[in-house]
Amino acid sequence: ERGERSDEQVSGAKVIAQALKEQDVRYLFGVVGIPVTEIAVAAQELGLRYIGMRNEQAACYAASTIGYLTGRPGVCLVVSGPGLIHALGGMANANMNCWPLIVIGGSSERSQETMGAFQEFPQVEACRLYSKFSARPSSVEAIPSVIEKAVRSSIYGRPGACYVDIPADFVNLQVNVDSIKYKECCLPPPVSMADTSAVCQAASVIRSARQPLLIVGKGAAYARAEESIRKLVEQCKLPFLPTPMGKGVVPDNHPNCVGAARSRALQHADVIVLFGARLNWILHFGLPPRYQPDVKFIQVDICAEELGNNVKPAVTLLGDINAVTKQLLEQLTKPLWQYPPESKWWKTLREKMKSNEALSQELASKKSLPMNYYTVFYHVQEQLPQDCFVVSEGANTMDIGRTVLQNYLPRHRLDAGTFGTMGVGLGFAIAAALVAKDRNPGQRVICVEGDSAFGFSGMEVETICRYNLPIVILVVNNNGIYQGFDADTWKEMLEFQDATVRAPPMCLLPNSHYEQVMTAFGGKGYFVQTPEELQKSLKQALADTTKPCLINILIEPQSTRKAQDFHWLTRSNM
Ligand code: ADP
Ligand code: MG
Repeated sequence: ERGERSDEQVSGAKVIAQALKEQDVRYLFGVVGIPVTEIAVAAQELGLRYIGMRNEQAACYAASTIGYLTGRPGVCLVVSGPGLIHALGGMANANMNCWPLIVIGGSSERSQETMGAFQEFPQVEACRLYSKFSARPSSVEAIPSVIEKAVRSSIYGRPGACYVDIPADFVNLQVNVDSIKYKECCLPPPVSMADTSAVCQAASVIRSARQPLLIVGKGAAYARAEESIRKLVEQCKLPFLPTPMGKGVVPDNHPNCVGAARSRALQHADVIVLFGARLNWILHFGLPPRYQPDVKFIQVDICAEELGNNVKPAVTLLGDINAVTKQLLEQLTKPLWQYPPESKWWKTLREKMKSNEALSQELASKKSLPMNYYTVFYHVQEQLPQDCFVVSEGANTMDIGRTVLQNYLPRHRLDAGTFGTMGVGLGFAIAAALVAKDRNPGQRVICVEGDSAFGFSGMEVETICRYNLPIVILVVNNNGIYQGFDADTWKEMLEFQDATVRAPPMCLLPNSHYEQVMTAFGGKGYFVQTPEELQKSLKQALADTTKPCLINILIEPQSTRKAQDFHWLTRSNM
């Protein structure tokens, strides 16, 4: 009856779950315990998916991947104190990558605050450095509006991480159902366009370029700008270079992709359009000697504060990448302007690509054992399904793998990212596999891990087996961090001295059987040392969609990248 109060009660846990559902949140990842177990149970009762992980960090990596892949944040649910602190790594990674994420942390009871309560910690303050928004609802009744604000903040403007703190006493507190007002699902992020005169100016700078280059970043992938960017590339016949996670927005095998001449393209371009890519370390800050001193940058970004970082841009286009690219297309195609395909610039780029590819081919065709990185990746590339997700981490494994393993679809490459985080791979792969399962069953996730990178979250293999996710993990095993030693050298080194004194800090145990981590939980494991074994095991792994699999690939412990024109990180010649 109108005006009459029902005496039905609802718990704080149920209010949280319902509020998340109202905001169209679909996945929660976490490690349960006091005081958040009830929240996970309540979420499942409402049909939300809960994935129990083995460490909060990996859970947080997984949740943030859901945000990047779907545009709707995933939740990382953690317990108080140490649980939340473990999740900070994942929050920082998401925030640095500009990926939406909601972290919900249980915290100690309000009545015991400042008394040394169980796992007491200043959680809202702690999260502030790692997020765009960090708050505790003032009451159970306030939970829906705080959750709505967190979800909205995570996807509006520059996407990022948001934190909601839930005191333990809220979880089981019973409140009258009528006192809870759920907020309607927030609207999709507003789409902003760039100033028209700036678009005209940008088009005229592009038209007058002698050596133009488009750089496609993961912001373009997140913005789902693949169609408009591809049109721009094809109609205007422009060369483009994807950043590591910008790979696949336009397919890597597109004739206009100059990924194989990356350094050359950056170094000699006179006009560079940045679509959702920051001029940070990944792009060598936009500075000489990696770039021409007078190169004209046109920056397209949704975040005004990003524009002008490290360089003075020729033109700034503030707005959504997809909308702004359409504006640019309008300017450049009516009437149609095209960059001449027979230019000297194209010739230089094509020649460089050819010689770089020949060099990699040559390394790949080396028959010596143990294998080198190039041999491994060429064999993997041969069998990779075109639509698979490629997750990759580890220093050499990721850097070399990026140049050989191709992406044909947007948002299908996940790696250490802006923050250079190691340990992300298994969490990323788990989230990608769940998205694949829902959208496109049969689609595979290939997780290419260095042996060191694998170690950070190795126990998530149990999570993978528990949910039976179709993930193929490749551990490219060189017995160490960057480089390692073979078993004999390792033995000799330790003959007269303790490992803690003598073992080089980069060493990991030689010839470890990482595949047994997978077989321990019922998945398939392979230990491979030759190209033939690699081919055979990969073929079997890809054919068997019923089981996760780990292929442990032993490579030459001292194997490295081919010589580079510039060293990646050293400041002196960056
Ligand atoms: P990469 O690592 O690929 O170089 P970055 O993470 O450095 O990419 O840059 C991504 C950029 O994309 C960020 O500056 C972010 O603000 C921007 N961005 C994210 N979403 C959008 C969007 N919808 N429209 C425009 N820019 C966006
Ligand atoms: Mg290694």
